[in-house]
Amino acid sequence: MSEKLSFVSPTANSPWGTYLSQVDRVVPYLGPLARWVETLKRPKRALIVDVPIEMDDGRIAHYEGYRVQHNMSRGPGKGGVRFHPDVTLEEVMALSAWMTIKTAAVNLPYGGAKGGIRVDPKKLSQNELEKITRRYTSEIGIIIGPHTDIPAPDVNTNGQIMAWMMDTYSMNTGGTATGVVTGKPLHLGGSLGRVKATGRGVFVTGREAARRLGMDLRGARIAVQGFGNVGSVAAELFAEAGAKIVAVQDHTGTIVNSNGLDLATLIPIANKDGVIAFKGGDVVPNDAFWDTACDILIPAALEGQITAERAQKTTAKLVLEGANGPTVPTADDILAERGVLVVPDVICNAGGVTVSYFEWVQDFSSFFWDEDEINVRLDRIMMNALNQIWDTADKHKITLRTATYAVACERILMARQERGLYP
Ligand code: GLU
Repeated sequence: MSEKLSFVSPTANSPWGTYLSQVDRVVPYLGPLARWVETLKRPKRALIVDVPIEMDDGRIAHYEGYRVQHNMSRGPGKGGVRFHPDVTLEEVMALSAWMTIKTAAVNLPYGGAKGGIRVDPKKLSQNELEKITRRYTSEIGIIIGPHTDIPAPDVNTNGQIMAWMMDTYSMNTGGTATGVVTGKPLHLGGSLGRVKATGRGVFVTGREAARRLGMDLRGARIAVQGFGNVGSVAAELFAEAGAKIVAVQDHTGTIVNSNGLDLATLIPIANKDGVIAFKGGDVVPNDAFWDTACDILIPAALEGQITAERAQKTTAKLVLEGANGPTVPTADDILAERGVLVVPDVICNAGGVTVSYFEWVQDFSSFFWDEDEINVRLDRIMMNALNQIWDTADKHKITLRTATYAVACERILMARQERGLYP
């Protein structure tokens, strides 16, 4: 009955196409709520903005920015802002939709949103980065706010960028609205534990999945793709638990060491010059990453990385999706057939938005918790969500991904139904 969206042309493996097929798979488990499912297949609101800035050399440059509010049935929009040269409206739509599923899966009182600018921030000076951030924030200022839509860091954005966003929004509205973004620096209403929260969540869900598989983390071999805030923190926590990080890939290349990479030396080098600058491993071609013998694979970079071919050859028994949308639907089926357990993005990497929620709550109450309290609460929320999802998967004999969608979509569509259509 509904018309197809005219402004995207998803393919089977594109981010929005991947998301649509994930939603289609959950429909049989929604019962009468399936009547509302079309609401998940279109964003509530999508804003495209022009972001003009004066560059250091005097030229005027224009960039394309987006903020998509996919769903707000359960609360304000929530989700990060990504600066990347390949960002598109379609990608941001999918990322916003995954936020809707994610916040519902861990039962946070939020909907889903996401933003981005199509830019390579590595090519900008600090001054240009500040200008692009502030102009973008001003442009999307008409739809964000502490009670409407709360941005946060994502790929290539960080606490400094959140501070500029908070300041710009506050200057435009005349107060100091710390609750308008999360992932802020500590002295500006940021929360302890936020920087490491996504990686910690990957570890917490991964440790539980390994336990259920009967896999000992001591000596387990782990391959990590993406060595930013998510991949490097997860790697550190797994290494502390006795695992060996045998392969790491980032935008500079791939390094392997079957005896385990020394993370204490690798992480500072990787943060500065990329993993390729590290001398304690062998540099191999990027494709060889997927052939590395490992027990756990952690995709923590961008979407669409685990293709059918890579799913076929991985030796991993457990995939922990630190990234959003790293596995295409055909690869998901192959992994399931091969008996590889996938902890899906929408639960595995939900630690970041969970501590964002803590930050937002602390900002509103102007009362700040210590790090232990944050980590204990994070563990509890992640474990409760994971256990419920696992029970659902066992009950219906479905993958953890479809089970997560079943739990989340029921919450979203129930809220949708109870609110009713207006007018
Ligand atoms: N960008 C992160 C994500 O993809 C965090 C979003 C947030 O904290 O709002 O989940």
